[in-house]
Amino acid sequence: QLVPDYQTSWQGLSVAALSKRFGDVEALRDAALSVKPGEVLALVGPSGAGKTTLCRIIAGLTDADAGSVSIDGEDISGLPPGLRRVALMFESYALYPHLTVRENILSPLRARGRNRELGSSSIGFDELLSVLEISHLVERLPVALSGGQKQRVALARALIQDPRLLMLDEPISHLDAKLRHKLRGEIRRMLSVRQHPSIWSTPDGLEALSVGDKVAVIHSGRIEQIGTPEEIFQHPASIKVARLFGDPPINIIRGELSGEAGKAAFVSASLKLELSPLLQELVQDRTRKNIYIGVNPTDIHINSNGKFSGSLYSVEAFGKNYIVTVQLSDGEIVKIKTKDPMEKSIGSEILFNISPAGLFLFDGEHGTALA
Ligand code: ATP
Repeated sequence: QLVPDYQTSWQGLSVAALSKRFGDVEALRDAALSVKPGEVLALVGPSGAGKTTLCRIIAGLTDADAGSVSIDGEDISGLPPGLRRVALMFESYALYPHLTVRENILSPLRARGRNRELGSSSIGFDELLSVLEISHLVERLPVALSGGQKQRVALARALIQDPRLLMLDEPISHLDAKLRHKLRGEIRRMLSVRQHPSIWSTPDGLEALSVGDKVAVIHSGRIEQIGTPEEIFQHPASIKVARLFGDPPINIIRGELSGEAGKAAFVSASLKLELSPLLQELVQDRTRKNIYIGVNPTDIHINSNGKFSGSLYSVEAFGKNYIVTVQLSDGEIVKIKTKDPMEKSIGSEILFNISPAGLFLFDGEHGTALA
């Protein structure tokens, strides 16, 4: 069984005003977040956003320039890594090269002198190996493992501990699609059962939405938004956030608002779209110049009676879905996700409609959500 004694004293992690510079690079700026026991926080952002830096500071492996880290109400900012009871699984694995897989996985328990738990009878060891599909590798040295196998050994080493906080830095990003799919669910299940407050970092927006109870979006060292997966997906606070989700990502089109109360529309060189009643209510300035709209590829529908037109640029088939790329008259590119095969040839005219309810509005200067 993977379930440790439930610790009623757990309060979880709280991070306040963390900042870190590396020379000219502001790796982290004023970052704040919290994770409760039993909660998985998905930390999502593109490469270089600051995910690893944040995890390393929490683990005590990198010193912050400013800010604090508390676990269970205790400020641990000054504690050395070994005394924090925080488990961090690195994207770079960090396995001991001279130890076998078994010894690597058990090394954190050994380091804390918990010898009685060593060996194959220790908590969850066999089940962990079997779930991660590494049982047959236990006597090997890391040099004899593939990248994906090393990643799973590093994951086992993090999961076997009984930490006050568990951090998985891109835990499944180097695995093939099938194993990634399986382990995403299995790891998520283990985290739920064990109730450790956990951080799961990933560059993949959809992975974040599926594993996180809460999602924190980080970009250029700043936390852009924290919320439930639904909040983040349905109300992205900025274009940077919106672009991380959706496959393919949301279409962003520049234009302006025009019209009077109750009749405001988005206008670009090639589109004129009436806003939904909800957006009509929410938008303050109905003649605002310089805005962006965001529209998800699933909210655009190819239709022979469609109001809008463009020319077919490319078609990609992904199993049951097709990604149809259309070029509008002003050169703007729009991606449409559809289940219907596209029989037209490249360059043909494509007619389509856009669901007014699927529109997002963003400020043209800062990219922040308008409504
Ligand atoms: P990835 O998904 O690629 O791992 P990340 O979100 O984890 O990216 P970080 O590794 O935290 O990003 O890096 C944040 C920024 O800080 C990057 O611009 C990176 O180049 C820089 N950086 C990180 N560590 C160092 C270091 N030790 N020295 C100099 N710059 C660093």
